[in-house]
Amino acid sequence: MTQDFVIPERPVLVLHYHEIGLKGGNRDFFERRLKRNVEAALRSLGAPNVKRLRGRMLVRGMRPEHVPEALARLQKVFGLATISVAAEVEPTLPALAAAAVAQARVHPPAETFAVRAKRAEKHYPFTSQDIGREVGAAVAEATGWRVDLSSPDVEVFVEVAQQRGLVYIGKIRGPGGLPVGTAGRAVSLFSAGLDSPVATWRMMKRGLHVHLVHFHSQPFMDRASEEKSRRLADLLADWHGPLKLTIVPFIEAQQAIIAYTPEKFRTILYRRFMLRIAEAIAREDKAKALITGESLGQVASQTLENLAAIEDAATMPVLRPLIGMDKQEIIDEAHRIGTFDISILPQDDACTLLEPKRVETRAKLHEVRRAESALDVQALVAAVLAQIQTEVHYPSWWHEPVPQDTTTM
Ligand code: ATP
Ligand code: MG
Repeated sequence: MTQDFVIPERPVLVLHYHEIGLKGGNRDFFERRLKRNVEAALRSLGAPNVKRLRGRMLVRGMRPEHVPEALARLQKVFGLATISVAAEVEPTLPALAAAAVAQARVHPPAETFAVRAKRAEKHYPFTSQDIGREVGAAVAEATGWRVDLSSPDVEVFVEVAQQRGLVYIGKIRGPGGLPVGTAGRAVSLFSAGLDSPVATWRMMKRGLHVHLVHFHSQPFMDRASEEKSRRLADLLADWHGPLKLTIVPFIEAQQAIIAYTPEKFRTILYRRFMLRIAEAIAREDKAKALITGESLGQVASQTLENLAAIEDAATMPVLRPLIGMDKQEIIDEAHRIGTFDISILPQDDACTLLEPKRVETRAKLHEVRRAESALDVQALVAAVLAQIQTEVHYPSWWHEPVPQDTTTM
């Protein structure tokens, strides 16, 4: 991260979020959840104090040397629009001006600037205009920058509230979105390929609390996909907080599908069973939706007809955040999130025993259902569910001892 600011002796982080659409009780719920998520992310950095204050949050009591790490963590807390590092000073014009000059001096070269001043209460012996004038003059003198109020290179923010002054330059972009946990819970079908980690991240960003479910075909295929799903879960936990991953040995269902149904419906039937099993896990978890990494037309199983034939097996909504994205857009996002390098690690993919030679691209639902009727669906689902294992993946910043055991659901 490039750092264009000095870290003051008593740093205060100013966290902004978008408030559009947040009204009344909904806003309070959103803010309380965001505060909890921020507190959790910063707890192992001396548990700084997080306070909600008029549509933003202030983090106080942090040691200056912890600030870079705090910024890195906060850039993964969904709901934050911007993060700034402020100096906290006495609410006097000379003190505000001195703090602004200290920050402006270390700023990379620029030509123009503007002071954005706010005064919460009216009882100070100066107005917002006074702040703008005094701080502006001091910064101009110290840097040679010109004032440009409409499109400045640099913005110097000065906020005076509750007998304190906050001064900061610039804002670091947060990840946006909504705080994890504000949108309810969902189960994500998590393959460890390129798409599903991106799909999962996108739904976390919309505030969903997510539970990952990975299906593997051992011993017909190697353990690589399972290990990849674990590494990806570790990575996504940094954005989400503790993250459940359920590992599902799927081979028994696959073998029944191979033995008793036409080859061309195999992929669709695998997916139908995955949805049913994921839904059973979701019900146990009080989750109300499923997430997949499907993208329209990307592969044969993702035509409109096939998506419909697959979704028919689910009763919960199936969220497909990548449905309208190109492969390249998904790859670009995987790079930004950091999942790309793990997703492309080699794994057994097209096992000739399990994958069909011919794939139906326009499956008719009644034919798929008829093919499936050769199977005892309930018994197969139950047999698979009897073998699942759930583990919890903790963020790298986790602050409490991590239990070592793997628990079964
Ligand atoms: P991905 O890149 O996510 O692996 P894909 O391009 O390989 O997707 P498909 O194999 O058709 O596409 O899978 C579509 C979706 O079905 C995946 O995005 C994922 O949500 C789910 N899925 C497929 N295989 C698995 C698996 N082994 N475990 C969990 N979910 C899976
Ligand atoms: Mg895949």
